[in-house]
Amino acid sequence: MRCGPVAETHRSPALQRAWELSYLDPAAARALGRERATTGSGVDAAEGWIVAALCEVRLHDAPAALQSLAQARPACAALPDKAAAARGLALCDEVQAIVLRGAGDDEGSARLQAAIDSRGGFEPDAMQRFIAHNSRAITARQQGHADAALRHFYAACNAALQTGWAGPRITAFSNLGGYHHDLFNLEDARLLSEQALDAAREAGATQALFASSANLITIYYAAGDMPLARQMAAFLLAQPDEGQAGLRDRHVLPLALGHVAAGETDEALRYLHAVDPDSLREAGSKVFWSWLMARCLLARNDAPGALAVAERTLHACQQRGLVAPPFDIMQLHRVLADAAEVAGDAPAALRYMRRAHIQYEQMVGRSARARYIALQVKHQLDEAQRERDAAVHGHRSAEVDRRRLAELNDALLTKVAETEMLHTRLREQALRDPLTGLHNRRYLFEIVPGMLELARRHERPLCVVLIDLDHFKLLNDTCGHAAGDLVLQRFSALLRDMLRKSDVPCRHGGEEFVAVMPDIEAEGAHTMLSRLLDTFSALRLEHGRRRLPGGTFSAGIAVFPRHGGTLEQLLSRADRALYAAKHQGRARIEAAPRTGFATLG
Ligand code: GH3
Ligand code: MG
Ligand code: MG
Repeated sequence: MRCGPVAETHRSPALQRAWELSYLDPAAARALGRERATTGSGVDAAEGWIVAALCEVRLHDAPAALQSLAQARPACAALPDKAAAARGLALCDEVQAIVLRGAGDDEGSARLQAAIDSRGGFEPDAMQRFIAHNSRAITARQQGHADAALRHFYAACNAALQTGWAGPRITAFSNLGGYHHDLFNLEDARLLSEQALDAAREAGATQALFASSANLITIYYAAGDMPLARQMAAFLLAQPDEGQAGLRDRHVLPLALGHVAAGETDEALRYLHAVDPDSLREAGSKVFWSWLMARCLLARNDAPGALAVAERTLHACQQRGLVAPPFDIMQLHRVLADAAEVAGDAPAALRYMRRAHIQYEQMVGRSARARYIALQVKHQLDEAQRERDAAVHGHRSAEVDRRRLAELNDALLTKVAETEMLHTRLREQALRDPLTGLHNRRYLFEIVPGMLELARRHERPLCVVLIDLDHFKLLNDTCGHAAGDLVLQRFSALLRDMLRKSDVPCRHGGEEFVAVMPDIEAEGAHTMLSRLLDTFSALRLEHGRRRLPGGTFSAGIAVFPRHGGTLEQLLSRADRALYAAKHQGRARIEAAPRTGFATLG
C-alpha cells in the first residue's frame, strides 16, 4: 500500500479499488473505504469516508452513511487543494441526496442536486459523473420527469463506460433497461437488461444480477412471453444471495409475477402474502402488488376480493396523486375490468376497460418518446463525428487544434462506445430513404405517436400533409427514370429547406410525401405549401443536356385533433383532401373540410 506525501493529493490503489467495487460489491468496498479513512491521510482519508458512506446507503444503512458523511466533510474541507476539496464536498452532498431520496424526500434530494450543479470550481471525474447522473436519473424517475430521467440515465451509461469499471457499467445498463421497461419501450428494455444480466453474471455482481433478472421477468411478461418470464423467475430463485440479507426479498413481486405467468396461483400468493402492501414505499410497488394480488384472487374465483384490493389501490393513487409505471396502472385497470365482468357489473367492466385502453395509448406515446430520445443520442454521435471531421480539416492553430481534437476524440469515443452498445438494433434500421435522404414511412410511424401525444398534452394543433407530384408518370415516360429521380431529389431538398425545423418531412413512397407540422393550423400550413408550390413550379431543372418541364404537386391537409387522433386517421383524411385537389385540376392544396363526417364507431 502506498503512503507518504503521494497520498495527500492522489488516490492510493486501495482507494481506487474501493471506488471500483462500490457498485459491484458494496460490502467489500465499504470495508476498504473505512480502512483508508482510518489509516490514510489527505484525499485518501477524505474519500475513504465518502466511499464508505456511498456503500452504506447502497446497503440500506442510512444512519451509518450519515455518520461517515459527518467524518468526510471536515476531512474534505481541510484538503489543501481547493479543487479537490470542492470535489469531495460535492460528492458528500451527492451521497446525502441519495440518503434523502431513500428516506422518501424526493424534493429535498432534487433540491440538493440542483445546489451541487450550481456550484463550480472543480472538474468531476468519470465515477463522480456516473454517481451524479445515475442518482439524478432515479430522482427524476421518481418525480415522473421522463425526459430528464432518460437523459441522465444515458449520461450515466456514458460516464460508466468512461470509468472502465464493470460495476458502474452494469448498474447503468440495468437501470436504463429497467426505465425503458417503465416507459414500455420493451425492445430497448429487453436488449439492455439482457446485456446487463450477462455482464453481471460475468462479473459476479449479485445486486445487479438480481435487479436485471427481476426486470427481465416483467419485460418478458409485458411482451407476452410467459414461458421466458417463468424461466427467469426460476433463474432468479436459484441465485445464491451471498450473505446480502434481504436481497431476494426486494424482488418478491417479480418472483410472484413469474408464477402468475405460469398460472401457479398458490406459489404466487405465498410471495404476495409475505408482503405488507402498506409497507411498500414506492407507489409503483403498491400498484404492482395490488394487481398481482387481484389477479390471483380472480384466479381463485374471488371477484369481490379482487375488486376490493384493486379499487382500494386505485383510490389511493387518485387521492394522493401517486406516480406509478403506466404498465402497472394499466394492469390494475385490466384486472378491475375482468373482476367487474365476473361480478356481473358490465358497465363498470366497460369503464375500466376503456381506462385500460387509454393507458395503453399513452404508453405507446411514451414508448415512442423514449425511442425518440434514444434516436437523439444517435444523432449526437453523428454531430460529434461531423464536428471532429471539421476540426481535422480546419486551419486552427496547432495548440487549439490539439486540445480541441483531444476533447472531440474523447467525446466521440464515448459516444461510439455508448451508441454501439445501446443501439445495436437501431443501426440495423434504415430510417431514411436512400434516394432523397428524407426520413421514410417507417420513421414516420415511430415518431408521430410521440408528437401527437405532445400536441394532445399541450392542446396544440398539428397538421399532417400528404403531397403527390402531378403527372409524374408522364415525366418518367418522356424524360426517363433518371430525370424523375432528379426531380424527386430536388423536390425533397425544397421540402427540407422551406419547412420549419420542427416539421418532419418524409418520403411516403413513390412520388408521394408526408409532412408533419406541429403547432400550426390548416391556414398556416396552406400558406407554407403555397410558397413551396410556387417555388417548385418555377424551378427549371436540367438533366443531361435536356431542360425538364416545370412540375407541380397537389396536397391534402388534415389537422389534429379535428380530423382524427391517430396518424392513420389523419393520413386517411389528408388523402381524401388530396384526392379532391387532384379532382379539381391539380397544382393545388386542399384542407379536409372543417365540419367533417362524424367519426362512427
Ligand atoms: P397524378 O397527377 O394523378 O398523381 O399522376 P401521376 O402520374 O403522378 O401518378 P401515378 O401514380 O400514375 O404515377 C406515379 C409514378 O411515379 C409511377 C412511378 O413509375 C413513378 N415513380 C415511383 N417511384 C419512383 C422513383 O423512385 N423514381 C422515379 N423516377 N419514378 C418513380
Ligand atoms: Mg401517386
Ligand atoms: Mg402523382
